[in-house]
Amino acid sequence: MAEHYDLMVIGGGSGGLSVAERATGYGARCALIEAGRLGGTCVNVGCVPKKVMWYAAHLAHTLDDAAGYGFRLDYFGFDWRKLKDARDTFVQNINEWYLGYLAKAKVDLLNGFGRFIDAHTLDVNGERYTADHIVIATGGRPQVPELPGAEFGMTSDGFFALPSCPPRTAIVGSGYIAVELAGMLQALGSEVTLLLRKDQVLRSFDALLREQLMERLREDGVTVLTQTQVRAVARLANGALSLHCEGQASTLPVDALIWAIGRDPNTDALNLAATGVLVNPNGSIPTDPFQNTSVSGVYAIGDVTQNFHLTPVAIAAGRRLADRLFGGQPERRLVYENIPTVVFSHPPIGTVGLTEEEARQQFGSAVQIYQTQFRPMYHAFTHRQPRTAMKLVCVGPEEKIVGCHIIGEGADEMLQGFAVAVRMGATKRDFDDTVAIHPTSAEELVTMR
Ligand SMILES: Cc1cc2nc3c(=O)[nH]c(=O)nc-3n(C[C@H](O)[C@H](O)[C@H](O)COP(=O)(O)OP(=O)(O)OC[C@H]3O[C@@H](n4cnc5c(N)ncnc54)[C@H](O)[C@@H]3O)c2cc1C
Repeated sequence: MAEHYDLMVIGGGSGGLSVAERATGYGARCALIEAGRLGGTCVNVGCVPKKVMWYAAHLAHTLDDAAGYGFRLDYFGFDWRKLKDARDTFVQNINEWYLGYLAKAKVDLLNGFGRFIDAHTLDVNGERYTADHIVIATGGRPQVPELPGAEFGMTSDGFFALPSCPPRTAIVGSGYIAVELAGMLQALGSEVTLLLRKDQVLRSFDALLREQLMERLREDGVTVLTQTQVRAVARLANGALSLHCEGQASTLPVDALIWAIGRDPNTDALNLAATGVLVNPNGSIPTDPFQNTSVSGVYAIGDVTQNFHLTPVAIAAGRRLADRLFGGQPERRLVYENIPTVVFSHPPIGTVGLTEEEARQQFGSAVQIYQTQFRPMYHAFTHRQPRTAMKLVCVGPEEKIVGCHIIGEGADEMLQGFAVAVRMGATKRDFDDTVAIHPTSAEELVTMR
């Protein structure tokens, strides 16, 4: 007879681990199925190794800045291999830590690929399991375009496997992963070309952030080619790649090519047809605000859904779902509003709430904008002169703050606290009445006129 659980979770990434751990905390009997390494995208090929590389790139900029502060340094180069080995060990330790986390939480780990037999039955390695509730938390995978020679390129997964820094890299894409990889590789010694199909990076972000980041990328030496599309890729006799493009460049010789053009949800191999769970045309799973799919007892969280694709979103959705199913909190759900996010560019971006454009569409002339641009004091002594820019989007006579957008040193760490204030409904007056912390960049957010 098939083993029965209260809850089975497919996918041991940020969302899956969180819903399983929270559910067993309420006494539910729970199994988690993972086909790869525990921790999913974030731990293995996402946020964690990315942030390590971002720190390295940040250090490269800092070393460059040091001369302005009077330091005379002998520079012997950067050991990519050493950093990669240390980073891989760091990630492995997290994988192992998660084994202990699941054991401590008394979640049964099933190593293998989960497939539906029906809405309450799963197959894992040829064994059948049944459950009252099944959560799909299978995440996504990077897209590769269909064009001749596309296989010569790599995705962000391949970036994390690189044994050395490519001398010349082309990155195709305009989203946050594309700009983050561009900034890191450029700072660590690659000559980077960023190829954009349209005119802008980060198209869904506030215009101030988009424009500032384009300037910063170019100032840091990244070649940004707009209105350019790769049509074919060929491998040359010397091992390099030749990109055949339409737009600002016709051919581009590079040593590495990274596709950062989007991600596909992992739903195609789940045999969802056996359950009746509806999927969107792009393969993602539509859910209601309570993470219910179209079939009772089957839920979806994280990157496999149509919602914000961020680790804390997957975690929060998973925990709230467990609170609702097993914790006696029938109304518990994640509110998908005012979700703060950071882009680990150089300098970083922090953003929460509505862009100016979105606010004007919703509230018309009731929108009031405050914005500032300045050179942070740190850069008074450096030859690099990146500016910091900030915008507050306010609405109505009370000037409720509905958007806060920052690009500049420290924006990544600044935003979390401001996101709390925005979520609580802070007004411009609340910001003005808050005593500034001096001398910082953050103080500009409470002194804007
Ligand atoms: C390069 C990069 C950088 C990122 N940086 C950030 C960042 O800085 N901050 C941030 O918040 N987010 C970041 N993200 C996004 C973040 O990683 C994801 O939003 C998050 O990991 C989603 O969690 P998840 O649980 O939905 O899916 P995943 O973490 O993708 O987990 C899904 C798991 O399911 C497993 N799986 C799939 N199908 C099956 C199956 N049928 N059976 C068994 N197992 C299966 C997979 O092996 C995987 O382990 C980044 C992503 C990338 C790619």
